[in-house]
Amino acid sequence: MSATTSTSPDGPALGIDIGGTRLRVAVVAADGTILERTARPTPAAEADALLASLRELVEEYPHLPVGVGMAGLVDPRGTVRYGPNIGVRDLPLARELADGRDAPVVVANDASVAALAEQRVGVATGNDDVVLMTLGTGVGGGIVVGGQVVLGSGGFAGELGHMVVHEGGRKCPCGNRGCIEAYASGTALGLITRERLVDPDLVTSLREIADPTGPDVTRAAADGDPVAIEVLTEVGGWLGVAMASIVNALDPDVVVLGGGAAHSVAAIALPSARRSMAERLVGAAWRTPPPIELAALGDDAGVVGAALLARDRAAASPIPSA
Ligand SMILES: [Zn+2]
Repeated sequence: MSATTSTSPDGPALGIDIGGTRLRVAVVAADGTILERTARPTPAAEADALLASLRELVEEYPHLPVGVGMAGLVDPRGTVRYGPNIGVRDLPLARELADGRDAPVVVANDASVAALAEQRVGVATGNDDVVLMTLGTGVGGGIVVGGQVVLGSGGFAGELGHMVVHEGGRKCPCGNRGCIEAYASGTALGLITRERLVDPDLVTSLREIADPTGPDVTRAAADGDPVAIEVLTEVGGWLGVAMASIVNALDPDVVVLGGGAAHSVAAIALPSARRSMAERLVGAAWRTPPPIELAALGDDAGVVGAALLARDRAAASPIPSA
């Protein structure tokens, strides 16, 4: 990418999405359009190598606000308390990257910035109150209220994957039991299916696969396999339970389902989730349930949302030029 300079409040911002394997980077215009993009491998094994790589990237754009999105717990000062994909603990990432720059750097959870992207320029454009649930290896989430992303007092808001839908239920990777992540992630989809296959009377094409995973189940469901369809319907039902609690708490305009697994489960799980959610909303007779929509921005949600959050931050507390 070539260096772009702009100090205009309506100018672009740099968005960085730190994935487990790839660093996605984009210069993003105010309307969410990606002007330039690049990617490189994430040096996930070492915090020093990751920092060096990120510094090199942001130094190409000394005047642009920088937003970074990543999986994990990030506090309001941009310190990464815990990042599961990159093995870092207590890394003051925003401070490290802001050193010597004349534009702000903001770091936040990847699903939170993805929610902002969908609300501003994605499937939920035009709505102020939006909740995003992401389905992938795990379940994540992000919340936008009044047009602003909700990061919480410690930066830990939006961990929707760890809403308990079944007290004492399935073990979740977080250490608790009964979280929606233990019922609706891609990992859980494979696990629930393998448990079903213990029943020798079930007739299913999934028996031909040694240890069926989430993608195996969604493929089998698309081919009409009754067991795969039943599992996806059940997963959708659990998603609806979680969404009902979210909607009862926040009354959003739209619930957005995103993440790598969302599109492949949608045909079966979404109708089931809609039914399950509608049954559980308080005052169901007097209200219309919010729509559940599939995310529109795909893999770009992270870079676009990170850049838009950086623009928000720059607008709220502009750094005076020297
Ligand atoms: Zn959990």
